[in-house]
Amino acid sequence: MSDLRIIDIQKRYISAQAREENPFMLHPVRLAIREGEFFSLLGPSGCGKTTLLKLVAGLLEADGGELWVGDENLTNVPPESRRFAMVFQQSLLFPHKTIEDNVAFGLKMQKVGKQQRLKAAREMLEHVGLSGFGSRFPDELSGGQQQRVALARALVANPRVLLMDEPFSALDPGLRQEMRELLSRIQKEFRVTVLFVTHDRDEAFALSDRIAVMGEGKLQQVGSARELYERPETTAVASFLGLRNILGGVIENGHFASSDKIMEAAVHLPLSDGDYFMVIRPEAIKASENGQSGHARVRGVVQEMKYGRGIYSLIVKVRKQLLECVLTTAQAEKTAVGEPIDLFVDMKEVWFLKE
Ligand code: ATP
Repeated sequence: MSDLRIIDIQKRYISAQAREENPFMLHPVRLAIREGEFFSLLGPSGCGKTTLLKLVAGLLEADGGELWVGDENLTNVPPESRRFAMVFQQSLLFPHKTIEDNVAFGLKMQKVGKQQRLKAAREMLEHVGLSGFGSRFPDELSGGQQQRVALARALVANPRVLLMDEPFSALDPGLRQEMRELLSRIQKEFRVTVLFVTHDRDEAFALSDRIAVMGEGKLQQVGSARELYERPETTAVASFLGLRNILGGVIENGHFASSDKIMEAAVHLPLSDGDYFMVIRPEAIKASENGQSGHARVRGVVQEMKYGRGIYSLIVKVRKQLLECVLTTAQAEKTAVGEPIDLFVDMKEVWFLKE
């Protein structure tokens, strides 16, 4: 298998004037990305996602570590010989070349004959839904179409790895969604390994087989979207994934009590006594008990209600703590901002962290 292996690759930026006290440091990264896998680097701005992508591309020189694809050591191989392709936020097409010539350019560099490369370019344009656009120039295409061309250009030379740095972030939401679907389809069709950089959680969740959450120059956690969302290993990962219901407290004899005293309940997991954070996904909070046991009841006041795609998202204030939960429209109709509400937390659905 031609897995992409990043072995302790690291980088510390040295500022030109050496004046900066704490230059950014990418701590040693160890990752194995499977052949054909869609892998995303997800994290806030400035956490080092692009730095890692550039190190993999060979556009930046690492301070240490190795990069392998299968049994080939690429650590000292120049970027143009790695057989990797890149797609950036801007399509960076050659303005004076036609779309077809833009797509065929990589093959020209590989000395592929004219007829053959134009045929490959046309076929690839068809894959990205742009057949018939080959003789246009980049400025005759919309932003979304230009990104489709960039994708076609990246894929036409059959790269071992496709590196993508926030490729859809300049597009409007509808188009972004369309491009995600296109990329997902094409990636499966071509079985190309993708390393994708984004700060958009929904985008990473929608596209990826696995995701590495990054923060402050380190990999914080690697897993599938579901593993990360349902089993975050730190409160930092939980918060970055949008989980706001995090209660500090103590487990004693299989019983959790939050420090702010808003909740006390039996714990379903075999956890030893000690301090913990309880993470409650909004979906684990119900507005009625449904006759099931194993729910912890909390009483609060509705502070905010927002409608979104068939459900309501509520912020409920329980003493000083704010809890986010989701209700069906029928349940939401029974309440209003300022009204008291009983919430039932499904203890089988909560997650505990020890930090
Ligand atoms: P974004 O989502 O905003 O693109 P990112 O996670 O991709 O962010 P990087 O571009 O990898 O972050 O940057 C990480 C840190 O390194 C930032 O603090 C940035 O200012 C710093 N940095 C990036 N390039 C250089 C450079 N050439 N010299 C010095 N510092 C740099």
